[in-house]
Amino acid sequence: MSVSLLAPLTTNPQPRVLHPTRAVPSDTVRPTRAEVNLGHLRHNLNVIRRAVGEVPVWAVLKADGYGHGAKAVARTLERAGAAGVCVALVEEGIELRQAGINIPILVIGGHYARAYGELLEHRLIPVIHQPEQLEDLAAELTYRESGPFSVHLKLDTGMGRLGIVPAELPRLVRLLEKHELVRLEGLMTHFARADSSDDESMLEQRAKFDEATAYLTERGFGPRLRHMANSAAIFAGPTHHLDLVRPGISLFGVAPSPKYPRELLPVMRVRTEVVAVRTLEPGQSVGYGGTFTASRSSRIATIPMGYADGLSRSLSNRGQLLIMGKRVPIVGTISMDMTMVDVTDLPECHVGEECVVLGPQKGALGSDTITATEVADHMGTIPWEVLTQVSRRVPRFYREP
Ligand SMILES: *Cc1c(COP(=O)(O)O)cnc(C)c1O
Repeated sequence: MSVSLLAPLTTNPQPRVLHPTRAVPSDTVRPTRAEVNLGHLRHNLNVIRRAVGEVPVWAVLKADGYGHGAKAVARTLERAGAAGVCVALVEEGIELRQAGINIPILVIGGHYARAYGELLEHRLIPVIHQPEQLEDLAAELTYRESGPFSVHLKLDTGMGRLGIVPAELPRLVRLLEKHELVRLEGLMTHFARADSSDDESMLEQRAKFDEATAYLTERGFGPRLRHMANSAAIFAGPTHHLDLVRPGISLFGVAPSPKYPRELLPVMRVRTEVVAVRTLEPGQSVGYGGTFTASRSSRIATIPMGYADGLSRSLSNRGQLLIMGKRVPIVGTISMDMTMVDVTDLPECHVGEECVVLGPQKGALGSDTITATEVADHMGTIPWEVLTQVSRRVPRFYREP
């Protein structure tokens, strides 16, 4: 069979997201990997369900499922009974539809550009946060001679980020009256201070939300699905559960505030293996810039994971890792592909020894866990950033317990 060199180049018109590969051990040479425990994911979903009773759970899987691999996570949660999924990008929604996810997918990021056609084709529900978007969608529906299409409306009740403000509601109602094909199915908002359990500010946002709901309902556009609860608001009690809840971080087992239940289990475990061990004399230093100098005769182990893998350079001389179930300190400056730890206090440490960067380890010397919250504290950030920064170079391995 001959192929014409003059044939037009085929271009792929689909928006795509980049994501780490789903891997098996034989695919990888380097022992650095993120193990994703799908059993723990299901467990966390059940913990959330116990907190919300009959209220449907729409799992927030933006940023590749908080770094865990959105496709595998979405499949697992769909089978386990999640009622819907929220993503930030149209691209992320398409990826999940193409992976065979069938439950509703809500696109919460608010950026559609000219992708209204893609929204319709892939049955993605847009969150409308500007009246103009409603007009653009209506134009696309008319052009395609399409039937009615559901949207959710985002209200800005205090976040100051995205969403229509109360003053814009009259204009929005006029547009809904004009464009009958656009159906207002959902009404949502997002808390600015749920994580610090600031009840007063939450109630203030709630009052604005209820006012807007009443305004829309009086004009015949009462939303069927009202929602505002992220993880922190879910575990703060039933007040804000409404018609569906939107947990993200708690699905992945991270409890950033004391109100989260203790039963949540971490889903991601990042591990690697020691590639070299050396002895330093007092006065010798480690790594770029010599930022760590041995004050005693020291054994230093090198692991094949660096800032390009998501082990933040800000953990240099600060963070800790686990070897044999015991904590060892990161010493020196973290490089792009490598990190050094001081293993002088371990009775022994050989090349090939497992080293855990995030999650639990049971070893000869004990058992311990590096939590995303603890890493975040060392870095001066939040656990959300710790999970989402594990880079594409770290293959994800999926485990069913
Ligand atoms: C990310 C996000 C959530 C989930 O928040 P968590 O704190 O991770 O549970 C819910 N709603 C919106 C709009 C979000 O952007």
